[in-house]
Amino acid sequence: MPRTHKSLPRLHVEADLGAGQALTLGREQTNYLVAVMRMKAGDAAILFNGRDGAWLARITDPHRKGVMLEVVVQTARQTAPADLWFGFAPLKAGRLDYLVQKATEMGAGTIQPVITRFTQVSRLKPEKLLANVIEAAEQCQVLSVPAVAPEVTLDALIAGWRVNHGLRRLIVCDESAPPSSPVELLGWLRGLSIGVLIGPEGGFSDDERSQLLAQAFVVPISLGPRILRADTAAVAALALVQATIGDWR
Ligand code: SAH
Repeated sequence: MPRTHKSLPRLHVEADLGAGQALTLGREQTNYLVAVMRMKAGDAAILFNGRDGAWLARITDPHRKGVMLEVVVQTARQTAPADLWFGFAPLKAGRLDYLVQKATEMGAGTIQPVITRFTQVSRLKPEKLLANVIEAAEQCQVLSVPAVAPEVTLDALIAGWRVNHGLRRLIVCDESAPPSSPVELLGWLRGLSIGVLIGPEGGFSDDERSQLLAQAFVVPISLGPRILRADTAAVAALALVQATIGDWR
């Protein structure tokens, strides 16, 4: 029973993709296809690079040191990068990996670490963040890989917002925001460019909160009566945005 495109392994590659192109994959991806998936010559995989859409490629030589494939046909046209911006205060390693993977699955187009007063993490590893984003993109079959922006302090983010984001509204998840229906609140933002900002496990400081609330581009929302872990709040907020004014509609 031939495997449908949906069930074929999907791999992100850096190379340009076009019909007839020969590609040799690196050690990790070779190991996955040849050793883990036990694929043979003639077997197919779906390749994407975030620029040229998705392409079906067939294995020409399942060499253990570097599997060789020929790119055959485009199976999906490249989609525009998602507009949704997602900012978060970095968390400790495991939760950070989870957070950037979920932001990718939930359709963020830009993933931006924001350093706040109570952020616990000292040094971020951008290459690790990107690896998590690519892994999530392969799994959830997005074609435009979210951009992982370099970390920024909350002060710099606020100071540069208008210049960098124009009319984009920044939805700030604030557990001290007065309870209101986030669905109604978000309805007012339909059609606008949106950013979502989640604070650190220790929350925004009082100064940060008042600085944020003083910005015309900020829309504070409550995510209900319970205090959520930052990674829970991220998924909840992104689901709310995608369901009410985003691409789940
Ligand atoms: N300072 C809080 C913990 C912050 S939770 C405490 O009392 O311990 C981490 C982040 O998740 C917050 O900064 C906020 O962005 C988000 N968050 C958690 N619960 C929320 C809620 N009920 N409404 C809105 N945002 C929430």
